[in-house]
Amino acid sequence: MIHYQVFELVYEMINLHSKINIRLPFKVNFDSNKPKNTFMKNYLLLLVFISFSHFSFSQVGEICKWDSDKSAAVVLTFDDWSPGQQPIVPKELKSRGINATFFITTNFVASWNHDWPTVVSTQADGNEIGNHTYSHPHLLAQSTIQLDTQITKAKTIIETHVPLQKVISFAYPFGEGVGSTSKDLEVRALIKSSGHIGARSVSASNYKYNFAATEDDYYKIMTYTMSGSVSIVTFENQLKQIVSGGGLLTYLYHSIDDANNSHGDTWYAQVKQSVLQQQLDTLVSYSDKVWITTFGQAVKYHKERNCATLSLVGTTGTTMTLSLTDTLSNNALYNQPLSLKIFRNGVNYSTVTQNGVPLEIDGVVNDSIVFHAIPDGGEIILTVGNLSTETLQLTSEDFRIYQLPGSSVANVHVLKPQANSCLSVIDLSGREIYSLENLEMANDFQIDLSANGNGIYFLRFNNNNNSFVKRFAIVN
Ligand SMILES: [Zn+2]
Repeated sequence: MIHYQVFELVYEMINLHSKINIRLPFKVNFDSNKPKNTFMKNYLLLLVFISFSHFSFSQVGEICKWDSDKSAAVVLTFDDWSPGQQPIVPKELKSRGINATFFITTNFVASWNHDWPTVVSTQADGNEIGNHTYSHPHLLAQSTIQLDTQITKAKTIIETHVPLQKVISFAYPFGEGVGSTSKDLEVRALIKSSGHIGARSVSASNYKYNFAATEDDYYKIMTYTMSGSVSIVTFENQLKQIVSGGGLLTYLYHSIDDANNSHGDTWYAQVKQSVLQQQLDTLVSYSDKVWITTFGQAVKYHKERNCATLSLVGTTGTTMTLSLTDTLSNNALYNQPLSLKIFRNGVNYSTVTQNGVPLEIDGVVNDSIVFHAIPDGGEIILTVGNLSTETLQLTSEDFRIYQLPGSSVANVHVLKPQANSCLSVIDLSGREIYSLENLEMANDFQIDLSANGNGIYFLRFNNNNNSFVKRFAIVN
């Protein structure tokens, strides 16, 4: 026995989904000898055989521009591993629940008396350790062999000492290497071929989302350089700009020390701990708008998102299967989860899995369910929760659906059918899977949905540019 339930009026789905008008093979039975294709008054029985296997994809949601649908990304970067950084910065970050990227000059580690265990513990807090060369030279003055030492060897040294993290981010000493001379190109080519996915320079900033039109642009990431003379107003203005521009803002810090210069960190452009604290507090106050992350994660996310495709694989009455792919071939490297917003259409999904593994559901925003999934990480399946816990609404001003006892047939009564009226069956993903147009004078329709099994479907009635959608469930 199939119970037929009709649920609440949903907002107009027609505005959210591409308007694919799919004609299905179906059989129309007339209960009188009215001529075919003439929908005369009253009774018309439609037996609709719906199969879900061969439809075009429609828009089911979107890949957020940045993690958790934040407006922009912000990365704090600390260069050179100068002596005040390690004693001060990781603790300040940790107490605020944020992370940063430390660009290490490997030759400075021992010489500044903060040896590798301090780098390891900084990384263990979730911070990123990036490559800032072996000895901080002017890269454009280096021979090919010297470049290999400065770029490739330094990367290997860091990875040897910090084994739990691959080095994928690079920062140019003195900002040299982002130009267009043959040496600049050689520098960037080596940075890329040695396994870095992006590199940061020392000037300007990337306010617009489309800051990397080419792959090479990821090796010219700009930054905002901090010093003791940057006021909190100026610091915050950078945040305001990046929120409005939607891009990637990196702050570049050098020396950090306390009021008494306890760590002797007067290397370059010192920022006092108290000032840093105020800046971090200001940054955290923007955390509903900006994704505070590491350089490597921000670059990964942006690259993946720019070549990712979210598509619908198929639906059943109770599941929607999606695929998230990208065109980056190194899936072991490009494994940054992307935030997805999937149109929910009022449906309560209880679980989301990828490759069979449950994903955490971050929440529901504007009737979209938000969660993270990894490109090329396997099929994503959203499963409807309890079908019988929904709210019932049977009627609207323009049409009503009512149960035919002991049947899986939907009885639809259209109050004022017109020549341009249209009745559609829509699946979980928003695809129109059946459409009956030009209802003309007919008032009553029967649509057989028994072939689809239990699940949630939608009926949409269009009349004079008004669209009414009812969600209903077949519950066995
Ligand atoms: Zn430096």
